[in-house]
Amino acid sequence: MGYRSPGRPPEARLDLLRLTTTVVLIAALGTVSLPAFAHVEVEVDGVKRAWVGPLTAADVLAQGWYASSAGDLVDRNGEMVARGRGATPELSRDGVRLALDAPLRDGDIITSATGADVAESEIVTEVPDPITIRYVGDGPLQALEQPGAVGVRRQVIGAASVRVFADEVIEPAHAMVIRRHGINGGRKVVALTFDDGPWPGQTDAILRELAAEDVQATFFMIGSQVRRQPDLVRRVRDAGHAIGNHTQAHARLDIAPAPVVRNEVTGAQQAIQEVAGVKPRWFRPPGGRTSAVVNKEVARFDMRTVMWTVDPQDWRQPPTSRIITDVLAGVRPGAVVLLHDGGGERATTIAALGPLIRELKKRGYTFVTLDELP
Ligand SMILES: [Zn+2]
Repeated sequence: MGYRSPGRPPEARLDLLRLTTTVVLIAALGTVSLPAFAHVEVEVDGVKRAWVGPLTAADVLAQGWYASSAGDLVDRNGEMVARGRGATPELSRDGVRLALDAPLRDGDIITSATGADVAESEIVTEVPDPITIRYVGDGPLQALEQPGAVGVRRQVIGAASVRVFADEVIEPAHAMVIRRHGINGGRKVVALTFDDGPWPGQTDAILRELAAEDVQATFFMIGSQVRRQPDLVRRVRDAGHAIGNHTQAHARLDIAPAPVVRNEVTGAQQAIQEVAGVKPRWFRPPGGRTSAVVNKEVARFDMRTVMWTVDPQDWRQPPTSRIITDVLAGVRPGAVVLLHDGGGERATTIAALGPLIRELKKRGYTFVTLDELP
């Protein structure tokens, strides 16, 4: 049910409605005309852009209203490092470059230009100038004569490009000197060496072959194997053979960082000393791969490094006859023969041993362990 005010006719109510509408309309128009909501229309690179409120060059850039690209990040020679990582595009009005906070006016015609290239920052750093090894003399035995010293290089490196722009030696490294020599001159001796053991079933078979011929040899043992086969290690020692250090885990030492080298050399040294009660005097790096770091670490234990002069590659399991002919072909007085008792199946090595020793004896050779050398 409708309500009607008494005494007011319908025409009067209609007039009141018109009046109210007019007042509201005026108020609304007043609001639109306030400066804070000014409508700005500009043209940037030929495209019309509308904006409500004050507009600056920074707003145009932030909206991405431009056709040009950012500059590049470049190195000191102007070579590109990262595309578009330089300065943002530059805006101009009537040929005059606009600052970022420059206010834009309705009807402005703006053009953009590619942003400036920005040079990357550079880092000056000091890096070690590594020791090189200088070998003097000849032969499989190696002794550290001069330890050498690490030098210092100063490098200027691009922070983003990682390019090296300058590299100068501030303090030169001193070479390490390793003296090589053979087993004492001219005597008709051979040193048989067995690497990668102790290995159950094989090291003991080799011990039997050597005992049958009354010959002593040198066993380069791996520390982790020594821990697993303590009885076999003691049998090698008790039979009068020499025990050498062949690292803890047969790591590749030439590329190993210093702490790894230290663990590899120290680990095997401790294992052999604890299990066999003997202190190895000789070190053989796995694969013969060595470095200045290795030589220094080995010298710390008063050890010397020994390589070899004859390598029949017995670890490839060639036929027994091949091992025998290859060794006999390579043997000279003072030879160091590289053989293996561990690291895999060594049946052909074991079978070659008796005939090989007997033939060498026939040719006038005697057998030495490395520990017998001065
Ligand atoms: Zn080895």
